Amino acid sequence: MLVASASLLNIKAVILDVGENAPAKQVAAPTAPHLNHIDGSFADPAKIRELAAKVDILTVEIEHVDVSALEEIQSLPRETPLAIHPSPFTIRIIQDKFKQKEHLLKHNSPVSEFTSVEPTEASITEAAQRLGLPLMLKSRTLAYDGRGNFVIRSVSQISDALAALAGRPLYAEKWVPFSKEIAVMVVRTTDGKVQSYPAVETVHKDNICHLVFAPLRSRDHTLQDRAKRVAGDAIRSFTGAGVFGVEMFLLENGELYVNEIAPRPHNSGHYTIEACETSQYENHLRAILSLPLGSTNLQVPSAIMLNLIGHSSSMSELIATTNIALTIPGVSVHLYGKADCRKGRKMGHITIVGESDAETRARLRPLLESLPSSSA
Ligand code: ADP
Ligand code: MG
Repeated sequence: MLVASASLLNIKAVILDVGENAPAKQVAAPTAPHLNHIDGSFADPAKIRELAAKVDILTVEIEHVDVSALEEIQSLPRETPLAIHPSPFTIRIIQDKFKQKEHLLKHNSPVSEFTSVEPTEASITEAAQRLGLPLMLKSRTLAYDGRGNFVIRSVSQISDALAALAGRPLYAEKWVPFSKEIAVMVVRTTDGKVQSYPAVETVHKDNICHLVFAPLRSRDHTLQDRAKRVAGDAIRSFTGAGVFGVEMFLLENGELYVNEIAPRPHNSGHYTIEACETSQYENHLRAILSLPLGSTNLQVPSAIMLNLIGHSSSMSELIATTNIALTIPGVSVHLYGKADCRKGRKMGHITIVGESDAETRARLRPLLESLPSSSA
């Protein structure tokens, strides 16, 4: 999606990813041999150096990159300077959720209580005594779609939690009894200015983002502005440019906590492609190229994003849904071209726009009904 936006602005993209047929490479054919895509992992320092040698601006779409390689590249002199966005400093903090929470706390962003723990029963028991139960035990690194979290509801589950997260660096968070999960995309310019997209409601199923409702509706008329401000303040505290996804918890009393930050385009911002005046992808590019940012306003009254999550190794269930989607007005289908479909894997998404929430919800209904019952 980033590369599709880049092509409209005639920005040449060189992709580092595993496989010659990786989704982004399907979108942009190299226009010259020195711009050939690279086959390799974003965790491989040699491949990152190879990419850096080909580009003027380097950006990431995943935070689990080898950040030491980026830091080393940044410190080397070269003829034309290389810009890395977001900064390796920011990526290093964000890729460790414990460091990220410490950073947010230090910069006065609201976060729920958390504590470092050792991977021992004694240490986690002590954390549970201090922060209470349930206790959210989290891997500090390499977590996504809930893979890296364990909810400890009683001390008898601590040994199971340690087994499930064995070998991973851990920390613990106080349980947040949220009423809703919300998210705000924020664009940060090279000179540190921030601009927020509307706050949206995110609905997760089995720890995977299932639906996004834009904009977030609430009887609390201060909520939109407060959420945008909390998100913007959090992103102002980092360095480097680009879009950031800020996941937040909304409590029953209206309080907001920052859950976590993604230093890149984010699933909760996919709706912006059809629903906003400028998509998160285009604004990411504009930000890292120091171009004027586009408006982050909604251009429709209501939008919903439905993720297409693999149900099995076959795409057939999802294609049944996209076939229905193609018959409904205001509905756009995105299929990512990933090689293999797997249970729980994000294979695409559908965006629905309409003149009212009632209209977008009515357009969503047949899509939900078409999903295999365990996915709806
Ligand atoms: P991931 O990297 O997998 O997205 P998150 O830290 O965002 O991990 O956690 C995944 C989900 O788990 C969140 O979207 C939320 O539903 C729930 N969650 C995370 N932290 C807490 C917490 N402290 N209290 C209650 N629920 C939480
Ligand atoms: Mg998350």
